[in-house]
Amino acid sequence: MSYDYNVLMFDPMTQLPIGQCDHQISFERYVVNQTDFRTLNYASEPSINMRGPINGASAVQMWIADEQVFATDPTYGWQVVADPDRIQEPTADVFYKIVFNKQVRLLLPLIEVSYITRQDFCLKCSATGFLNDFKESVSGSFAQVTQTTKLAQKALKWVLTSRDPFYPTFVCAIKTYIGRKLGIQITDTDIQTAVVNALTNMQQVQQAQSTVQNLDPQEILKDIVSVTAVTDQTDPTIVRVSAVISNYSGQSAPIGFTLNMNQ
Ligand SMILES: [Zn+2]
Repeated sequence: MSYDYNVLMFDPMTQLPIGQCDHQISFERYVVNQTDFRTLNYASEPSINMRGPINGASAVQMWIADEQVFATDPTYGWQVVADPDRIQEPTADVFYKIVFNKQVRLLLPLIEVSYITRQDFCLKCSATGFLNDFKESVSGSFAQVTQTTKLAQKALKWVLTSRDPFYPTFVCAIKTYIGRKLGIQITDTDIQTAVVNALTNMQQVQQAQSTVQNLDPQEILKDIVSVTAVTDQTDPTIVRVSAVISNYSGQSAPIGFTLNMNQ
């Protein structure tokens, strides 16, 4: 079985997000407040306490100079308490701060905190809720897609990527439609035709490929079952494109994307 690196946000077969983010913030840097010597301030912006809201006090972990310090530590014990002074309009998120039980007068100690935050404050997924392969690459291995999901991703690449270094003659016009005037320069039918052409090209390339290389039947585009391009009911500059393709193991995969045009 072969694979590709995942660049999809949703699994087309299950409609579930791929690489959903846990919003875990790791080793964020903090300093001890130099007035009370107990409260932590965000090192990059010491006027605030925590950078993001803490989602679950039990998941908070702290390190001082690379040594993990537990909440029960006799010298450096700490607790998570409400931060009523921090009001973030308009999200109304509840903020917390971390406070040492006793004063900590360390000279420029490196304090690092790991915690789970809320999506709007998550730097790991940039508040999108998803981790794609590029973001994953800094923390571990690339997410992979195989079989029917790989087929759907490949079909989307053929449609949405207007250049292909391996097959420079197969170019889909869709990318050049973005921002054009819908109904005057480009119609729904043009979009539909471009998608059908791109998928037909992909089909032909795969057929040629299969004569020299074994492909998983689930990865091979058999039929373009349907392609529709429909203008959004409320916003006439948005075209919703959806297609259904089938593979050689009797499954079909939906693919879809939205195109923004000019009025
Ligand atoms: Zn996140």
